[in-house]
Amino acid sequence: MDVNVRTTNGSVATISADPLAALGADLRGDLLVPGSPGYDTARTLWNAMIDRHPALVARCAGTADVIRAVRFAAEHDLLVAVRGAGHNIAGNAVCEGGFLIDLSGLRAVQVDPRDQIVRVQPGATLHDLDDETQVYGLATPLGINSTTGIAGLTLGGGFGWLSRKHGLTIDNLRSADVVTANGEILTASEEQNADLFWGIRGGGGNFGVVTSFEFDLHEVGPEILSGLIVHPFSAAKDVLRYYREFAANLPDGLNVWAVLRKAPPLPFLPEAVHGTEVVILAAFYPGEMGAGERLLEPLRRYGKPIADVIGPNPYTGWQTAFDPLLTPGTRNYWKSHNFVELSDGLIDTVIDYTHRLPSDQTEIFFGRLGGAINDVAPDATAYPHRNAEYVMNVHARWEDAADDAPCIAWARDYFNATAPYATGGVYVNFVPDGEAPIEAAYGPNYDRLLALKRKYDPNNLFRLNQNIAP
Ligand SMILES: Cc1cc2nc3c(=O)[nH]c(=O)nc-3n(C[C@H](O)[C@H](O)[C@H](O)COP(=O)(O)OP(=O)(O)OC[C@H]3O[C@@H](n4cnc5c(N)ncnc54)[C@H](O)[C@@H]3O)c2cc1C
Repeated sequence: MDVNVRTTNGSVATISADPLAALGADLRGDLLVPGSPGYDTARTLWNAMIDRHPALVARCAGTADVIRAVRFAAEHDLLVAVRGAGHNIAGNAVCEGGFLIDLSGLRAVQVDPRDQIVRVQPGATLHDLDDETQVYGLATPLGINSTTGIAGLTLGGGFGWLSRKHGLTIDNLRSADVVTANGEILTASEEQNADLFWGIRGGGGNFGVVTSFEFDLHEVGPEILSGLIVHPFSAAKDVLRYYREFAANLPDGLNVWAVLRKAPPLPFLPEAVHGTEVVILAAFYPGEMGAGERLLEPLRRYGKPIADVIGPNPYTGWQTAFDPLLTPGTRNYWKSHNFVELSDGLIDTVIDYTHRLPSDQTEIFFGRLGGAINDVAPDATAYPHRNAEYVMNVHARWEDAADDAPCIAWARDYFNATAPYATGGVYVNFVPDGEAPIEAAYGPNYDRLLALKRKYDPNNLFRLNQNIAP
């Protein structure tokens, strides 16, 4: 059967049955078309706002399949989407009418506890990696929601609870295997193809398909000190100003994030609080318990919190603690700014907008960056935001398509209202598709990234990403 597939210039090419049959026979994985078993699973992403139908899906079973799929796409000039775990808010992991290279079945994790290294396939989730590395009491910095994919997270930078101590995910990347646009496989590391290694550490999926990541590991847990302090919203201004003071002087191991939202029906919160606005301080300390208790003592003593549930937790438990609030299949629209400081004006604006959240699930969080992240020079990797002390993510989140317009409008208004306090840079992994000037994501590293794009992907085969157009 012939299949019509969209090409890179927007036209549609008819691929005849013979080359399709040859590709299908070559792949160890599956070649899917609409209606094939598994097709809908392959095209469904975390963000329910994205509903696209690729004409053709290669469900890769290994690196050899990725090479076959990339060569096929290049030969026929097909519009290509590359899918890791399918978590990115922009939805570039799937394309309408094009060719989807689906890596989500490749989830192997291989730990070398002696050398404290882990090798991971590109469909693995954060949970896959934490689960295996914690067998040996080891971990590398990842994000805060365990269903997120390692591939997209790493290629954009990657930060989470361990980052103030051990840096971004990319700061712990030792090497990666990359299938470039001509179907060649290259190892990228400080020793081999160092320019490519620089580019994939923050340059997203612009340069090729990564089939394997190798990370350094650190001793973490298995128990760490973590938990939440929940304050009433009536105290928000004072709490956020106190948080600013406290967070300014954190030792690098300690991390505290601030979240503003309506209280979910958590068992440790009184029923009367459920559905009302609250300020949540989420704390994490991976060192010795007693030291962590002492460091957090002033924060826990401050004000009159509604709840304080800080205590020892398994590291893997804390890494999944926010999953129930970030389940797949809900409609999402996100905006993000980086900040050097939390100014009074910013705090007032946040409070104002939290009073009129557009849905029960919408939240604004301030993640504390800095520490080891900012010990790295802005031009040492493609990720340039080494001056950011805070990242703010505005998660507008709702169930019903009828609420799209008010929820999106609220997020955009809030984003614009807080822009005067921001650095102007934005984390590439938090950008809704096409909504940030590409220079904001790549900053002063843009020109070097452009030269690299021209070298490794001159025809822009890998264009469905925060694209560096050659
Ligand atoms: C609920 C939630 C929580 C999050 N929390 C954090 C957090 O704490 N910290 C953080 O840093 N980020 C966080 N993120 C952002 C996250 O890092 C990105 O969404 C990331 O892109 C997800 O990776 P993925 O592989 O699942 O994405 P996918 O959607 O599968 O892929 C995203 C893009 O990456 C590229 N890509 C994917 N795999 C490959 C590959 N193997 N080779 C080449 N290119 C590839 C493609 O361009 C693709 O469009 C969060 C996102 C969500 C939705």
